[in-house]
Amino acid sequence: MSNQQVEVLVVGAGQAGVAISEHLSELGVPHLVLERDRIAERWRTGRWDSLVANGPAWHDRFPGLEFLDRDPDSFATKDEVADYFVAYAEKIAAPIRCGVEVTSVRRHAGRPGFHVETSEGTIDARFVVAATGPFQRPVLPPIVPAGAPVAQLHSAAYRNPEQLPEGAVLVVGAGSSGVQIADELRRAGRDVYLSVGPHDRPPRSYRGRDFCWWLGVLGLWDLETPPAGAEHVTIAVSGAHGGHTVDFRDLAARGIELVGMTASYDDGVLRFVDDLGANIAAGDATYLALLDAADAYVERNGIDLPEEPEARVLGPAPQRVTDPLLALDLDGIGAIVWATGYATDYSWLQVDAFDERGRPQQRRGVSTEPGVYFLGLPWLSRRGSSFIWGVWHDARYVADHIATQRGYLAYRS
Ligand SMILES: Cc1cc2nc3c(=O)[nH]c(=O)nc-3n(C[C@H](O)[C@H](O)[C@H](O)COP(=O)(O)OP(=O)(O)OC[C@H]3O[C@@H](n4cnc5c(N)ncnc54)[C@H](O)[C@@H]3O)c2cc1C
Repeated sequence: MSNQQVEVLVVGAGQAGVAISEHLSELGVPHLVLERDRIAERWRTGRWDSLVANGPAWHDRFPGLEFLDRDPDSFATKDEVADYFVAYAEKIAAPIRCGVEVTSVRRHAGRPGFHVETSEGTIDARFVVAATGPFQRPVLPPIVPAGAPVAQLHSAAYRNPEQLPEGAVLVVGAGSSGVQIADELRRAGRDVYLSVGPHDRPPRSYRGRDFCWWLGVLGLWDLETPPAGAEHVTIAVSGAHGGHTVDFRDLAARGIELVGMTASYDDGVLRFVDDLGANIAAGDATYLALLDAADAYVERNGIDLPEEPEARVLGPAPQRVTDPLLALDLDGIGAIVWATGYATDYSWLQVDAFDERGRPQQRRGVSTEPGVYFLGLPWLSRRGSSFIWGVWHDARYVADHIATQRGYLAYRS
């Protein structure tokens, strides 16, 4: 592949790379997608064994293809999601080359385009789309030193309960990953502590409709900027076991010990912030706010959906809210699973498209470096940008931008 000329180089063939390939093809824009592993590799091997999609099959997909052999209201397994994107790439005849890693991208001096180095030679690309994912590098807060007498792993490395050493497990983080992993470990008979931070907690379904539908009709997936202070608030949902509302009361009732945010570790003792009650109350408020918005929508539009008053009955707060556990001896813990999120890694993209903290500088995916684009990032254009359905729409905008630029460049050339 040495010194190949490519009009648009797309880096990464997860859902973002597949989506933009479809739009570029429709616009007649020649392109190549390079993927260092396999199509949708992160869905296949980068997550725990039992993971299913957080949204139902009718929602968590692209417009051009449904999940075959699956009830649209059920939740696809992670392997079915990976297979879906392989099938989608075949359907659109996406020009994807797997097993090729992009190691550097640099702007040409004195002429347009980029010099690209890959594991299989160099490429000259006029445009580059970084579709390498929203969740590239696991983030572990530096709380418990690596030498401490406990196994520590990030949720990205968690696969199943059998993988963890004997003993209780502390799961840190109460987004979708943390609550699902804690739940799975408890079902496997482990003693589990769950460290709960700020979160959004939508109902799985309300008045017969999944929360994905409610967020859609209420325009909340399309929010363009996060509500103030909620930029990093994680969303606690689960499609496991047919899908259910995440409720910390249920988790506590099943024997999971809830604690607040994990604050520090010293001399064999973990300490937690006394904020469990506040975090659960704030999560409940987001839950109730969605019910209110849904009820108002039903009334305004005169839709016939069954009332569900019992959804508002939350029951008493978990016992640990009034009797907080603020310290825990590490002696009793066999493993800590840090479900604490991810950062990006664009070390291969050596262009002027980042701020001083290394964050991509872009608007709707169009970066500050002309010719370089990003896809798949949280809040790239809206709340849904890092999710399956959302990236497809963002990709259409980016492809259109590239096609428009090509139109200008073609003028009398
Ligand atoms: C646990 C978990 C569950 C999720 N569940 C859902 C869900 O149910 N529904 C939903 O809509 N979203 C979900 N998401 C969010 C999102 O859909 C996924 O993170 C999805 O994988 C993002 O797709 P992507 O194409 O943007 O990135 P990725 O899937 O990460 O794909 C990026 C690709 O780029 C490749 N790559 C990276 N660097 C290079 C390089 N230098 N050269 C060549 N190739 C490279 C990688 O190998 C990878 O295949 C979930 C995320 C996580 C972490």
